[in-house]
Amino acid sequence: MILGLLKEHGTETRVAMLPEIVKNLVDLKVSVMVEQSAGEKAFAPDSAYSEAGASIVSRNEIFDKAEVLLQIQPPGEAELNRIRDTQVWISAFNPLWEKELVKSFLSKKTTTFSLDSIPRTTRAQAMDILSSMATVAGYKAVLEAALRLPTFFPMFMTAAGTIKPANVLILGAGVAGLQAVATARRLGAQVYVFDVRSAVKEEVKSLGGKFVEVEGAKEDAAAGGYAVEQTEEYKRKQQEAIDSQAVKSDVIIGTAQIPGRPAPRLVSRETVEKMKKGAVIIDLAASSGGNCELTQNDTTIVHQGVTIIGQSNYPALTPLDASRMFGKNVLNFMKLIISQDGNLHLNFEDDIVRGTCITHQGEVYNERVKSVIEL
Ligand code: NAD
Repeated sequence: MILGLLKEHGTETRVAMLPEIVKNLVDLKVSVMVEQSAGEKAFAPDSAYSEAGASIVSRNEIFDKAEVLLQIQPPGEAELNRIRDTQVWISAFNPLWEKELVKSFLSKKTTTFSLDSIPRTTRAQAMDILSSMATVAGYKAVLEAALRLPTFFPMFMTAAGTIKPANVLILGAGVAGLQAVATARRLGAQVYVFDVRSAVKEEVKSLGGKFVEVEGAKEDAAAGGYAVEQTEEYKRKQQEAIDSQAVKSDVIIGTAQIPGRPAPRLVSRETVEKMKKGAVIIDLAASSGGNCELTQNDTTIVHQGVTIIGQSNYPALTPLDASRMFGKNVLNFMKLIISQDGNLHLNFEDDIVRGTCITHQGEVYNERVKSVIEL
């Protein structure tokens, strides 16, 4: 198999594989082509890729010769026009939202894998890029909040008096939320957490957070560890509980999401207007509409003294470790599609290969994508 590692565009600083991962693929008898300066922004020079056994080539050569094309970000128009139906495209292209892109792949008959669709099963954990990137985001979001806040995070007892610890409210205790709890606790804040899944209560407590319970949440074991849409009655009760916690908070980190749906609106404009001046809201759910009514994707605004940050790519602000984690996940996934002699081998009997495959030979393979796409 010839794998082509493409350079990312725009503000993306990560690379889908660091040289250390390329070496593993070369050991698996895969020929790896790396686009010139693909790893530059993640501090991985071309020379390190060469030492790992890759050849450094132009983007054109990759599109001409590679069987498998790997890039974190979805393809742009130019790339879409170049991909051939015999090539396999691997990236994270959010197929539940990017329906037009899925349709383009279908009409081109491209085989595509979207790594954000890896099933959330035990066997797939080592391939779960969403968890890896959410870990980075949860950590970085808290650091950003701490830097922006006009007060300290920890309690300080000094000769100049006692400083109270910051109150941090975390909405959603999935991967990003739990990492945010851990990071905020390490920095000495008091941490309060809301989630609709009672299963996370113990995890929140074990990290030192306080779980704020709102009775009557709808849960569904069949949702595979994800939340489900709540009743209007529950939403009203939750809104009241969040509102009374928010006005006491210095920081809110929004991480609540239901995959494939707009992010739940948990912090209203009125709530923001009642918050402390100088408070900071970091809305990790910005790209799917935000947990806060005022969030603007990839924009920072200040509303009546409250800073609301809608940064949608925190992993790009931690490019080296984010690339390290991403690459390790990709390698683990690729092992499922590489035969013993280093060739491409697509075994659709494997639930992870099948679940991650979005399109193949003009058909939608992923069941959830199939249910949302209108053909
Ligand atoms: P996850 O699915 O593991 O966690 C989301 C949590 O939200 C779940 O625990 C769920 O139960 C909870 N939730 C859902 N609805 C809720 C509601 N109404 N009230 C309270 N809790 C609710 O997701 P994750 O991997 O932790 O990612 C969280 C968010 O962060 C996603 O929106 C994701 O896209 C985003 N993200 C952002 C960045 C970034 O850089 N901004 C990076 C990675 C992930």
